[in-house]
Parts: sequence; structure tokens; C-alpha cells
Amino acid sequence: MDMRETIVSAGKKLISEGFTVETWGNISARDESGLVYITPSGMDYEICTPEDIVVMTIDRDIVSGTRRPSIETELHLSVYRARPEVRAIVHTHPIYSTVFSCMGESIPLIIDEAAQSLGDEVKTAAYALPGTVELAENCVKALGEKAYACLLQSHGAVCVGSCMKDAFKVAKVLETTAEIYFRIRSIGGKYIPLSEENIAAMQEFVLKKYGQPK
Ligand code: 13P
Ligand code: ZN
Repeated sequence: MDMRETIVSAGKKLISEGFTVETWGNISARDESGLVYITPSGMDYEICTPEDIVVMTIDRDIVSGTRRPSIETELHLSVYRARPEVRAIVHTHPIYSTVFSCMGESIPLIIDEAAQSLGDEVKTAAYALPGTVELAENCVKALGEKAYACLLQSHGAVCVGSCMKDAFKVAKVLETTAEIYFRIRSIGGKYIPLSEENIAAMQEFVLKKYGQPK
């Protein structure tokens, strides 16, 4: 699928999965040549077409597209600069994850699928206004070198992957983990932490042995 089409269909998925409402959130992907494809700002995902996607270099020079790009363009470009392995970014506004972002808390790797997919505990980036360089910097810091997701305080989440499918998997696992964590906390319960050893074993297993051979 063409990169622009990938972004357009990912936008529809953002809504159908309940990862955001209205025009919030944004999506980007980086191709093999390093060009970044990003959603236009404030446009309804349902009416977005491939022509609405803005294509730019990592230095923000526009290559094609006439729409104003997402206000979080700097955040996306900063994550691509900091993490060369990242090829897709999905910025979501999901309910349960955002509960913890509003409290400035981290979401720990409390279930196996979180340990397998999220890379590290999910930290909350310090507050900064949407669309600012400061938010981009705080996000890069919260992601660190290993995490595939972070939260933006009082705002939402940023999920990354080596392709769009992986970034969406991260978004799904993050929100499921946040809901389970929320439910544990709601009944005054305490989770039993997974050991560092078991987390490392699952990460290794997923990387090398899980699923069908490539
Ligand atoms: P854009 O519509 O400009 O992408 O902004 C939405 C958003 O979620 C800002 O954080
Ligand atoms: Zn947002």
C-alpha cells in the first residue's frame, strides 16, 4: 500500500478503535528514503484522502501536500530523529491511558502482553502545550531508548513502532493495560509485579521465536 493510503486508513482505524474522538490525535510514517508522511491538522479522519497527507523531510521541508500539517509535527520529527528504528507514530487520546497521564503516573508492565509489546514501563511526559517544541522534547525524554509508548500529561499517548501495524498494536496493548491497571486500582487491589527476568525472557522470545518464521 502507498504510504499516503496507509496513513488515511490508519486515521479511520484511530476512530473505529476508539483511540480518539473528532479530529484529535495524529499519525505519521517514515519511508525507506527517510521522508515523513503526516496527517493534516484538524481534519476529519473520515473525509481525509491520500492528497491531504503532507510529505516532508526530517528537517520539515515540505515535499508534497498543500494542507497545513499536524500541530504535533515537531513531536513526530523529534521522535524519528531520536529513534532511528521507529517508522510509524500514532498519537492517541485514549480514555484509560489518559486517566494516568492526568495524574502524571507511569503505567507499569503488569501483564505479559505489555511486557512483550511496550518495551518499557510507560512514563508520563511533563506537561507542555500541544504543538510546542517543549512537548516534543518532553515526549522524546519520556520515551527514552526502549519504550514504544509514553503518555503526555493531561493530554494522551504517543505510540511508536517499526511499521504502522506495530504502532497500532502498541496503542491497543497500552490501552488494555491501562484499563486493567485502572480496574485493579479501582477495587483497591495491588498487582503482583512481573520479575525483570521474566520481562526480559518474554522480550527475547517475542523477538526471536514467537509466531511464524519470517
Ligand atoms: P492536529 O489535528 O493538528 O494533528 O492536532 C491534534 C492533537 O491531538 C494535538 O495534540
Ligand atoms: Zn493530541
